[in-house]
Amino acid sequence: MTTAVIGYPRIGAERQLKFATQRYWAGDIDQTKLEQIAKELRKENLETQKRAGIDFIPSNDFSFYDQVLDAAFLLNVIPKRYAQLDLSDLDKYFAAARGYQGKAGDVAALAMKKWFNTNYHYLVPQLEAETEFKLVGTKIFDEYLEAKQWGIETVPTLIGPYTFLTLANNKFYRPDTELAPAIANAYIEVLTKLNDLGVKWFSLQEPALVLDMSEAQIALFESIYKPLLEKKNKVKVLLQTYFGDIRDIYPKVLNQDFDGIGLDFVEGTKSLDMISLQGFDKKKTLFAGIVNGKNIWRNNYKASLEILKKIQEFSKDVENIVVSGSCSFLHVPYTIKNENKILPEFVKYFSFAQEKLTELVQLDKVFKGDQDLLAQNQKLFSAPRVVKDEQIKTKIDSLTPQDFIRVPTREERIKPQADVLNLPILPTTTIGSFPQTADVKENRTALKRGEINKQEYDAFNYKKIKECIQWQEKNGLDVLVHGEFERNDMVEYFGEKLAGFIFTKNAWVQSYGTRCVKPPIIWGDVKRTVPLTLDESKYAQSLTTKPVKGMLTGPVTILNWSFPREDISVKESTYQIALAIAEEVLALEAAGIKVIQIDEAALREKLPLRKSDWNSQYLDWAIPAFRLVHAKVKPETQIHTHMCYSEFNDIIAAIDDMDADVISFEASRSDLRILDYLKLHNFQTQVGPGVYDIHSPRVPSMEEMYRTIEAILKKIPAKKVWVNPDCGLKTRDTKEAEASLINMVAAAKKARESC
Ligand code: GLN
Ligand code: ZN
Repeated sequence: MTTAVIGYPRIGAERQLKFATQRYWAGDIDQTKLEQIAKELRKENLETQKRAGIDFIPSNDFSFYDQVLDAAFLLNVIPKRYAQLDLSDLDKYFAAARGYQGKAGDVAALAMKKWFNTNYHYLVPQLEAETEFKLVGTKIFDEYLEAKQWGIETVPTLIGPYTFLTLANNKFYRPDTELAPAIANAYIEVLTKLNDLGVKWFSLQEPALVLDMSEAQIALFESIYKPLLEKKNKVKVLLQTYFGDIRDIYPKVLNQDFDGIGLDFVEGTKSLDMISLQGFDKKKTLFAGIVNGKNIWRNNYKASLEILKKIQEFSKDVENIVVSGSCSFLHVPYTIKNENKILPEFVKYFSFAQEKLTELVQLDKVFKGDQDLLAQNQKLFSAPRVVKDEQIKTKIDSLTPQDFIRVPTREERIKPQADVLNLPILPTTTIGSFPQTADVKENRTALKRGEINKQEYDAFNYKKIKECIQWQEKNGLDVLVHGEFERNDMVEYFGEKLAGFIFTKNAWVQSYGTRCVKPPIIWGDVKRTVPLTLDESKYAQSLTTKPVKGMLTGPVTILNWSFPREDISVKESTYQIALAIAEEVLALEAAGIKVIQIDEAALREKLPLRKSDWNSQYLDWAIPAFRLVHAKVKPETQIHTHMCYSEFNDIIAAIDDMDADVISFEASRSDLRILDYLKLHNFQTQVGPGVYDIHSPRVPSMEEMYRTIEAILKKIPAKKVWVNPDCGLKTRDTKEAEASLINMVAAAKKARESC
């Protein structure tokens, strides 16, 4: 048995690539310098893997922006608007990645989407009528040869043709079946060149095989791979899948002439069953994805060994089993070695990318019979990692169905809320944050550096809150917010105040392009030991007679944007967070806060990839977790929620079932299509479909927003409609935000006249 890595993080342990790329964009360094820095990073990554003893080391997993965009540029899927620009190839690539505005022209970027069920975002390849698939790039070959020069034989890796087509957009120009021969040919060109270079293994990544697949999609896959595999010559082809199991296509895949198949045994709940029922092909190598590429906990060797033994047994003693990551390590941080603030007794439980390399090698040895390594590893798992908080456990164990049901019904709550709040029709509000201006950030930095004390820090934020409230009152908003100046991030802020979380210094994970996030780690049982937002909310409310919204992040979003525990279920962990947030909700209510918003910005993110799993594996606990947060409030307290997207057509019933009184969401960029669905499904929650896009610096005019409100009113009765922007204003500057809000309030007032 040997070991394989699917992909390695590429941004640099100190995010060197991020900073270098940004300096390149700013014109501070030239392309040569940027490429040199990139090359050093690639070398270091390869050598780290080599030193660790990995046998199958990938190349071409590096990217200046995104691996899907790299594939598009390799295969000539470059929309004309970028190809035409009088720019270097690299700058055309960046233009497609992030748009371009300058001497050479003015073009918007390609669309960006979440990469399956991760927090990584890829650029959506765009096919045009003229798109001709052909090999035009050299990156994959260059990086193979470069590694070879350094003495490392690598496995060039590339997004596979089926996944590429599945993710690409504008396919309506030509149907997939018509595109299949062309894309197969382009990949054959790649394969031929790899043959010429003497490449031994070529890995094609096909995560789209873990989605629900129709007969037509299975046929499409076969029609692409059949000709491709006929041309493989000496190169061995690995079909690499991840993020789930490939139950729909497994038998077909077995029949194709692949030399290796990579299966995911972490997220692929049916992978073992597939092999047990349908066997494996003795001639092929099985790459067993066993070290979790998405989470940061140490691998439990005993559990992994059991899986490996079963694989061996079910696959009828297939000779070649390679221990692999469950997916690319792109989704975990570099190394725990950079976390000098975390105590050793914690550290020993963590495994980031570099540590996962060691795990792969050790698992290989354990499988071959190394008892010492197994015993050592078992010490970590022989006793519970954290002491269970009995109080929390009792609370969760004693939850009854009543704890998830708010009484009276939403319908019956309308009147008491209206009596207390006394709002006009089409009330105006914002999503919570006001611009995080330089002074707000400086204040935070000053506290971190110890230049000011906590009192001074708070005093500054309180001054900002006061200005914010005064501005909203003066400009006629109806339900006010305190502005969220005390928050760095909507999850980190709560994680820092709640017990049970651990924060890292350098555990960055790439989100898109040069942007990285540093998710908190849920270490233990979560509970509220101090108020989370009470003081700020109370202070803000004391300044005005208008209602000020209490502002919280919901349990599902906190969980989805953290590294979750593996020793208890995500459901249990989310319920713990929900109970903690629920305490804050009641504290806010007791302090006289009449409207409380519980943001679930990321509710959709962990929706399982297969529709058939949506309810049983996710919504059945995620929605109750939200209900748990607010079920105990009084009828007259109004509960809002907010989501950062509008694609909830397919989960509309679940969202209504959250039983909030009001929901705000993004709608301006999606042509308000969602409104038809709301109508169709008789959506009960009051809605604030964002009337303008806060992701753009543009200031929309009063007329424009008035027209949007009119369009909304055609679909939804006025008494159910709120007027608000589509997300928080923290990334905007003050001038834009204020001008937009003034126009928004004027638009709402005008719309009221005809109600
Ligand atoms: N209340 C948060 C804000 O206004 C919501 C942010 C979000 O939806 N991502 O910033
Ligand atoms: Zn949002």
